[in-house]
Amino acid sequence: SYRKGGYHAVRVGDSFSGGRYIAQRKLGWGQFSTVWLAYDIQFSRYVALKIQKSAPQFAQAALHEIEVLSAIADGNPSNNKCVVQLVDHFKHTGPNGQHLCMVLEFLGDSLLRLIKYSHYKGLELNKVREICKCILNALDYLHRELGIIHTDLKPENILLISTIDPNKDPIRSGLTPILERPEGNPNGGATMNIVEKQLKRRARKAVARIGRRASMGGVGGSTKVERCLDGIDMRCKVVDFGNACWADKQFAEEIQTRQYRAPEVILCSGYSSSVDMWSFACTAFELATGEMMFTPKSGQGFSDDEDHLALMMELLGKMPRKIAVGGARSKDYFDRHGDLKRIRRLKYWPLDRLLVDKFKFSDNDAREFSEFLCPLLDFAPENRPTAQQCLQHPWLNIRNSTKNEVKSESSLQKVDVGMSNLKIKVGK
Ligand code: ATP
Ligand code: MG
Ligand code: MG
Repeated sequence: SYRKGGYHAVRVGDSFSGGRYIAQRKLGWGQFSTVWLAYDIQFSRYVALKIQKSAPQFAQAALHEIEVLSAIADGNPSNNKCVVQLVDHFKHTGPNGQHLCMVLEFLGDSLLRLIKYSHYKGLELNKVREICKCILNALDYLHRELGIIHTDLKPENILLISTIDPNKDPIRSGLTPILERPEGNPNGGATMNIVEKQLKRRARKAVARIGRRASMGGVGGSTKVERCLDGIDMRCKVVDFGNACWADKQFAEEIQTRQYRAPEVILCSGYSSSVDMWSFACTAFELATGEMMFTPKSGQGFSDDEDHLALMMELLGKMPRKIAVGGARSKDYFDRHGDLKRIRRLKYWPLDRLLVDKFKFSDNDAREFSEFLCPLLDFAPENRPTAQQCLQHPWLNIRNSTKNEVKSESSLQKVDVGMSNLKIKVGK
């Protein structure tokens, strides 16, 4: 992809925008861009530099993302709405063409990483609550104040706010800015490696430091990483507005990443900001359990869309007939009674039971958490609470959860059966 129209190759120490930003190390990449940690000489701070591929369709997408991010930044000068802030944007010309670049505030690991750190066991409910509040604040701002639908909400697109801010605390963060491309080697190769080694060594030291602190103050039973996360103020921001749209100006019919996709999108019944509320519920479930709420797969005689609809009904009950038959694509999946044509005999396993049986929640935690989630997973989009309403829900202010301390003996003896095993699928 590092060819004409593709990514721009960056080396440590490269400068951008007339020397204002200096590349430090690569943070990540996506289908459209590479993202680099950069040092902003003008304001002596670290930023994230997103360098778009250069072909016209990527430039077009970047212009759209810049438009959305600008609306977000203009509407919120205080930078406290849990949405990533655009700092600057410019064009950069390189051997592969002209690349649009976005300068964003520098954030930390994604929630997907956090879930991996938990070994896919899920986070403590108190942490889940803190993260949920941030995401809801972001959605409330986007939906109510700006009329923006994110359309791709998922753990990967929510980044933690670095707890050690390298701008305020460069020593503890293990970062010191590299201000120019390392010299002494005509092509920069060997010297670059030394610099990268230095960066890695500093990063390792920082990790060791955090680990030591964690193992000194931890509570028995939890993993080292879990302990490391104890007491950390869990704050995060929503990122990746490449697919966002305006509520009154939509572009795509098929939106959202598969597992987080709302039923009205599958049925092509039209959508609104309530699709983000559906994805939010899927994300909250995943944070608390470590597993995705729905992982649809195609099988013999049915598509992944049909499996997805079946999984939803097994968890949430039968879809009201009017909704099932009301979409442009309803006829592909449902008969006129509102029953799935090719997947029969669904096994209902409601959310509160699933949380107890499969994820070993206490009865109380399970009941409270599913009372929070279920309204967000209403098949009728207009019945889902808004982010503003959801922020008022009592679950967000509960303390001292007892997750994983299973109280009822019977639930321990239940066999852990995947939901798909309980379903009989009939080919056409
Ligand atoms: P996608 O294919 O997901 O649309 P993309 O090309 O639009 O990708 P992003 O998802 O915006 O790119 O960013 C790619 C990765 O770069 C992210 O997953 C994340 O790891 C990292 N990243 C993005 N923005 C920031 C930021 N502000 N601070 C730190 N890291 C970031
Ligand atoms: Mg992304
Ligand atoms: Mg994107």
